[in-house]
Amino acid sequence: MQTIRRLAHTADLILSLRSRTLLSFCLVACLAITRAAEPPSIAQAEPSGVLGSGAAWATPWYIVEGKEDGPTVVVTGGVHGNEPAGSLAAKQLLHWPIQRGKLVVVPQANRLGLAANMRWFPLNRNDKVTRDLNRQFPTSEHESPRTDLSKAIWDLVLQHEPDYLIDLHEGFDFHITNPKSVGSSVVYSKSSARDAIAQSMLDVVNRSVSDERRQFVSLSKSGAASGSLVRACTEKLGIDAFILETTFKDQPRSLRTRQHRMLVSTFLKQIDMIDEDCADRLGPTDRSGSVRVALYDDAGASSNGVNNCSKTLSAASDITFSYVGAADMRGDVLEQFDVVLFPGGSGSKQGKAIGESGREIVREFAREGGGIVGVCAGAYLCSAHYDWSLHVINTAVFNKTVEIAGIGRKSMWYRGDAQNVRMEFSNDARDVFNRAGEVEVRYQNGPIVSRGEDTQLPETTTLAWFRSEVTRYEPQRGTMIDTPAILCADFGNGRVISISPHPEATPGLEPVVTAAIRWSAGVADPAFK
Ligand SMILES: [Zn+2]
Repeated sequence: MQTIRRLAHTADLILSLRSRTLLSFCLVACLAITRAAEPPSIAQAEPSGVLGSGAAWATPWYIVEGKEDGPTVVVTGGVHGNEPAGSLAAKQLLHWPIQRGKLVVVPQANRLGLAANMRWFPLNRNDKVTRDLNRQFPTSEHESPRTDLSKAIWDLVLQHEPDYLIDLHEGFDFHITNPKSVGSSVVYSKSSARDAIAQSMLDVVNRSVSDERRQFVSLSKSGAASGSLVRACTEKLGIDAFILETTFKDQPRSLRTRQHRMLVSTFLKQIDMIDEDCADRLGPTDRSGSVRVALYDDAGASSNGVNNCSKTLSAASDITFSYVGAADMRGDVLEQFDVVLFPGGSGSKQGKAIGESGREIVREFAREGGGIVGVCAGAYLCSAHYDWSLHVINTAVFNKTVEIAGIGRKSMWYRGDAQNVRMEFSNDARDVFNRAGEVEVRYQNGPIVSRGEDTQLPETTTLAWFRSEVTRYEPQRGTMIDTPAILCADFGNGRVISISPHPEATPGLEPVVTAAIRWSAGVADPAFK
């Protein structure tokens, strides 16, 4: 409880919080005067320019330059709006330490398509000739780009006279087992130089793909389609250009962006622009005014859980986030973040996917001052109840198995479909959420918790109580009402918040999750007076 009260008193805060938190608090408080000296971050860095400034489809582009001379590489992501991983990876590589040469990056080429999760350029979606942005670039039939957006991208390429171009895409299935899709491939027009570059990328990424049916292949016989950006660069400009394709079928965004990073990192190393492997560089190494959140999206995270959290995080201008998976549960990856957010889905599947070694790394992250927020399944994961849980907050879960006459043995965690319940914020919630009183919140089988048995863990503070309940079986009656819906606690130098219901899926309550993230990161909420 003490830790929460501190937030109300700036002087106490500065005296008592750990140095990392102090630093970040100062960064937020002094943003206006320190911005120029901060490391670059996509959250704040001004783009180098905007394509189509003023147009509905306007999209920013960025330059990342090394200190020494070297090649120029154009990287495009999100040409197809339903292929988000390329766009996400393109944003992440804005933080890479380029040593030589220059990267020109257009992370959201088809920005309107990305926003609509639509393959086509949305304004032309009903025109079969012009709806596909990647068929509008110069060919032998049409010497000029056919649409305003393709012309803007092509002009940017011409202006920078690149030596290479990389276009990041995703396929709907693995090409190695389904030739109808180009998923998990490197697409280019054959030449010995391009063969060598492609092979080095394939070698590195395929070492990380244990399933033979998901291995990457090279597609160089027919090369990229006529009218595509890569084909135009190869034919009209004579440069080495590649489409890098991951596969969105049955693979989380964290894995697909990681594969894009592996491919691009290998490529940039091959042409001597970077000295270190950057496949595990997801963002800025220093907090630059924004709270950096790692959103877990791998096994055990439901797509609704992930999407609702990502929408909520996207709406907060002071928060940046990246998707992370089980493979990212490593110290050198988590140290790039202030908070790890575990969303809805299955807590046991999440816990088992990251394994005991991953769980220990998450605990170490929190001990060292990181924040952990668990929502629903994520709250089960945070508990001190299971052999697969994180044991970062001292909660036990009501989950006993009961023999019910005429039905059979039933585990009591299951209470049926999602429903709204009443939730009342406690007095301590004022300092974390800036809220009081009762609200309706969506609930879907989140943990019903009580004090756990781990005496090593610090005391918890209840931030909200359930004031009504959902029951499916008679023995559940009376077991949910007046139990904690949201709790917080310290863990080492870090902080944990366990949220049993789904405020991120309750219209109007989304800020509860972003406030929880700020509190667990130890930063003042800009919305609070
Ligand atoms: Zn595509």
